[in-house]
Amino acid sequence: MVYLVGAGPGDPKLLTLRAREVLEIADVVALDALVSPEIAAHIRPEARVINVGKRASAHTLPQDQINQLLIDEARAGRCVVRLKGGDPFVFGRGGEEAEDLKAAGVPFEIVPGISSAIAGPAYAGIPVTHRSFATSVTLVTGQESDGSTGVNWPFVAKSNGTVVFLMGFSNIGVISNKLIEHGMASSTPIAVISKATTPHQRTITGTLETIEARVAEANLETPALIVVGGVVQLRDTINWRETRPLFGKTVVVTRAREQASNLKRLLEDAGACVVQFPTIEIAPPDSWDSLDSVIDSIDSYDWLIFSSTNGVRGFFERLLTRGKDARCLAKSKIAAVGETTAQGLCARGIVPDLVPETFQSTALLPHLAPDQTGIRTAVVRAAEGREELIEELRRRGGRVDLGVAYQTKAADTRIDELRSLIASHAVDAITFTSSSTVDFFFQKLTMDERTGILDRTLLASIGPLTSRTLKGYGPAERFIEAESATVESLCQALIRHFTEAGAAVGADR
Ligand code: SAH
Repeated sequence: MVYLVGAGPGDPKLLTLRAREVLEIADVVALDALVSPEIAAHIRPEARVINVGKRASAHTLPQDQINQLLIDEARAGRCVVRLKGGDPFVFGRGGEEAEDLKAAGVPFEIVPGISSAIAGPAYAGIPVTHRSFATSVTLVTGQESDGSTGVNWPFVAKSNGTVVFLMGFSNIGVISNKLIEHGMASSTPIAVISKATTPHQRTITGTLETIEARVAEANLETPALIVVGGVVQLRDTINWRETRPLFGKTVVVTRAREQASNLKRLLEDAGACVVQFPTIEIAPPDSWDSLDSVIDSIDSYDWLIFSSTNGVRGFFERLLTRGKDARCLAKSKIAAVGETTAQGLCARGIVPDLVPETFQSTALLPHLAPDQTGIRTAVVRAAEGREELIEELRRRGGRVDLGVAYQTKAADTRIDELRSLIASHAVDAITFTSSSTVDFFFQKLTMDERTGILDRTLLASIGPLTSRTLKGYGPAERFIEAESATVESLCQALIRHFTEAGAAVGADR
């Protein structure tokens, strides 16, 4: 079986469910150059991946050999996916491949993709049809090959609808001249969209007369598509993506993968390109002994203190393993350090009695009795947590037990990708959400790299403790701290920084 699959226009989230499904079962995948690494990540590690992409510089396999390869692999009983940018039948030669498969008697399925011809303009704020501007849209190749039937220029120029050119970027001058020559007004609006739907999307607009010079000036990169017609004016109103506050910014998230999704989504919603670099991972503690003994005498505690959501998760998982549930906490007062920790408890049916204003365990101290004589407290937290709270409660005469519910470990991440991003100055900001992310991050870098980052990159910290650890690595030239220790506030701080920096021209790089 051969699947001719569209991978969508670039944004990895614009892959169809069916495309993902067949990628996950494929034995062999023939991959186009336009397909992003995030999409390729759906391919099983055991699958054979063949790069058949055609980028101007590196022709890998001629078309007839690609077709033969698909046929041979399918005949050998393998599940074959031919993955192409956009839609396989929109200037993707999918039609020719399907004909060859049919002739060879190999069964096939077409999995349509979101074409850059429609999605590219949409991401640039240009609807390809609109009742006031265009009742038709024509997709045209900007490269007339020997084998093609030729572009009907008089028809295209007079269609009175939207015209989208693919593969036309290097011919933009010729294309606009041909349209004028065949009767289109030279003042007709036109847009060139480069790397549409990717974080590097850029759009240049003009008229048929001015566009060639504007594009040359802007130094646009391929792939790019050209949209011609009145609908281009709607971009002034609808341009929703390139106007997002963090659009075009690359932000590194150092948080553990398990915890990063919320911050990642917030940053992406603000338009940022997020690079995940999990420096730490959450693991079970080396020993459950301390937590088990807390759980065994859970009835005897006056106070239970949870210092993080991971602590909450680790505690409840262990509680269930030990055959108990939330009812055994009925007698104790419960404190949660931080809003998200409190939410973690609420999700398990427990509303904490005490949540301090800031995300620091010592912030609990003013709320706890000055004389702790006769009071028993259990603190549930990470193996490597801070001791101040426990020490102070003991100093006040209390009896305090520690229950270790998890540990944070250095994550086994690939540093090479981050290195090359940092070296090419492609990172705009690095976010830190705890002291351990700071430590594990800097420990992975050489002294030179550390200095480079401290001198150049914006470092964004979630709160005072994280900032303190950060300062331990040297003074940071560009540094911001979230107002309240939440990922929402961290994201807001980045937005504020970049929109203010953007307003003060040149302040940012
Ligand atoms: N089958 C693809 C088109 C393949 S032809 C589809 O449906 O999208 C290749 C041309 O598509 C490029 O020359 C360029 O004009 C356009 N293209 C593909 N991806 C693009 C992108 N992300 N941004 C701008 N143009 C793109």
